[in-house]
Amino acid sequence: MLEYKAALHGRTFAKVDRAFPSSQVCSACGFRDGPKPLHVREWTCGEWGTVHYRDHNAVRNVLFEGRRIVAAGRGGDAKRPWSAGRTGTRARTAR
Ligand SMILES: [Zn+2]
Repeated sequence: MLEYKAALHGRTFAKVDRAFPSSQVCSACGFRDGPKPLHVREWTCGEWGTVHYRDHNAVRNVLFEGRRIVAAGRGGDAKRPWSAGRTGTRARTAR
């Protein structure tokens, strides 16, 4: 449906892999901070200390990944640059 609607309105559509770790990667520096339980709504990047709101960070990562896929050519890129990386989490729970 999204693909159809995008085409109807002349917009670009890209499908991001469901395994893409949108909530594990810092959208500011790319550091892979590791998995977080769902109750963790806010966390701090273990690399540069950027504070993220979980969903906002994930949306930014999905947008960047979609743009990367489009830039790599239609149909996406077989490579998954996000599949490897360092881990380490400093999570904060919602207040
Ligand atoms: Zn970071």
